[in-house]
Amino acid sequence: MRKPFNFSAGPAVLPEAVLARAASEMSDWHGTGMSVMEMSHRGKDYMGIQAQAEADLRELLNIPSGYRVLFLAGGATLQFAALALNLLPEDGSADYIDTGIWSSKAIGEAQRFGTVRVAASSKDSGYTRVPDRNDWNLDPNAAYVHLCGNETIGGVEFHDTPDVGRVPLVVDASSHILSRPMDVRRYGMIYGGAQKNIGPAGLSLVIIREDLPGRARRAMPSILDYGKQAENDSMINTPPTYAIYLAGLVFQWLKDLGGLTEMARRNEAKARLLYDALDASSFYSNPVAPENRSWMNVPFTLADASLDAEFLKGAEARGLMNLKGHRSVGGMRASIYNAMPLEGVQALVDYLKEFERTRA
Ligand code: PMP
Repeated sequence: MRKPFNFSAGPAVLPEAVLARAASEMSDWHGTGMSVMEMSHRGKDYMGIQAQAEADLRELLNIPSGYRVLFLAGGATLQFAALALNLLPEDGSADYIDTGIWSSKAIGEAQRFGTVRVAASSKDSGYTRVPDRNDWNLDPNAAYVHLCGNETIGGVEFHDTPDVGRVPLVVDASSHILSRPMDVRRYGMIYGGAQKNIGPAGLSLVIIREDLPGRARRAMPSILDYGKQAENDSMINTPPTYAIYLAGLVFQWLKDLGGLTEMARRNEAKARLLYDALDASSFYSNPVAPENRSWMNVPFTLADASLDAEFLKGAEARGLMNLKGHRSVGGMRASIYNAMPLEGVQALVDYLKEFERTRA
């Protein structure tokens, strides 16, 4: 039987070549007779693995020397809090752009630690677009501006980096990191959980301009202190070594296939194939403004929601897995991250047409 195509929003599909390599190295990494899982994080072999992962990531994203890369335990939700602790001074405030459920969660968490202004929101439109940049009410004295680059549930993506002047821009890139090139210099901080385009859940990545940590002076746990983590190469304590090793394999896979420009070309083609199929039909619909449609997460509904269960059952029978939409919005969602091949999207499009033909 053909391997099923996994459209899960995360944890999500990983490249088959990466899983095969990890499997082959599982119990004996490069003739050491040891699994990476068993290695001391301070030993030469593991330190080399982590250094290589960082070097490959720097090459892929063209990360300039004034930025630090941190591999941290805990998901993106932990970073919602940590970034506020690190960057939001007690007497300052931060601007947040609200484009959906994940932006709102970031806002809610930051509010626990300081003053948050919602400088723009698309809540009134049902989170179906990015608010027009001309309508953002930014504070020039804000400690930072935060946005969610891709709303994993709503399927709303920033396709350009907005100009926020001299205020550092912080982006939650959990569900679009490495899907295309990014101009890192335009950001103060880029962060994300690993379980979509990077590797296993539980690891998060922080890329931060080195002058930013230390601006907030609150007491905080050392392992959440970006400055201390940077000084200690993300090793204040034992880092999630195996997850970092797997992330490194994903970075190598990306380099081998031609880097992020090639990845972007593939992702755009996959997204276009799927959106064109949805738009060509009145049986399916996607509510997001065309210029803000995500390349990674494509929510859609059937004209008749009573057919949802049958749609999902038929999809599974064809090996098209995890298409059920997020519980908060219902409908369907196809997550088509880097590791989803074009054939997977083509198989979904074929099924969309077939289902419509027989049920509409
Ligand atoms: N931000 C975004 C955009 C996400 O999609 C998610 C997870 N789906 C999170 C944050 C939270 O990530 P975690 O579960 O790793 O805390």
